[in-house]
Amino acid sequence: MRILVVEDQPTLAAQLVQAVAGAGHTVEQAGDGVQAHYLGEVEDFDAVVLDLGLPLLDGLSVLRRWRAAGRNMPVLILTARGSWQEKVAGMDAGADDYLAKPFHMEELLARLRALLRRRGEHASAEWRCGAISLDTRQARALVDGQPLPLTSHEFKLLSLLMQRKGEVLSRTELAEHIYPQDSERDSNTIEVFVGRLRKKLPGGSIETVRGLGYRLVEAGAAV
Ligand code: CA
Repeated sequence: MRILVVEDQPTLAAQLVQAVAGAGHTVEQAGDGVQAHYLGEVEDFDAVVLDLGLPLLDGLSVLRRWRAAGRNMPVLILTARGSWQEKVAGMDAGADDYLAKPFHMEELLARLRALLRRRGEHASAEWRCGAISLDTRQARALVDGQPLPLTSHEFKLLSLLMQRKGEVLSRTELAEHIYPQDSERDSNTIEVFVGRLRKKLPGGSIETVRGLGYRLVEAGAAV
């Protein structure tokens, strides 16, 4: 797998590169936010390890810009010890997981494996529904061939709807897919995510089936 490691502190960066490469991956490295943003935008990675405190451009801004540009590779952020605010901001910006410093390299590798495994489970091909297509390997959505900027939650939602297009999915099912670890998940927030996603897709793509849930249909097609 191809992994991007973004860390400005030279000793830690060297340890990270060594550990990730030692686990059999190809590693690219960036030491500041501008370089990191550039690499993540123009090259394809299977996962990114992203420190948040970076020179030139902070990690949160890097992540937000990637997500806004439709770059949906899994991102594991490294946060300062004890800063829950950073974790929350990071998850909101589209991080898939976080690890607080200092951490054991074994834990970082385990979390990276979990991210890659989750990604691998969906690594089939390209899914299509009318004008919408989803490149599951690169985790990118397109409408009429144009990249569709989605947050990571919106992307997960669209993935499930596309995987099971035509089927009615309940809010609970969608919530379980979006927050697999969260026992406090709230299916009402799904309505918000569906609303946002709907605005980005061709009109009529997501149907509300009253009392049951939502389904994805080819926009303009008779059902
Ligand atoms: Ca740093």
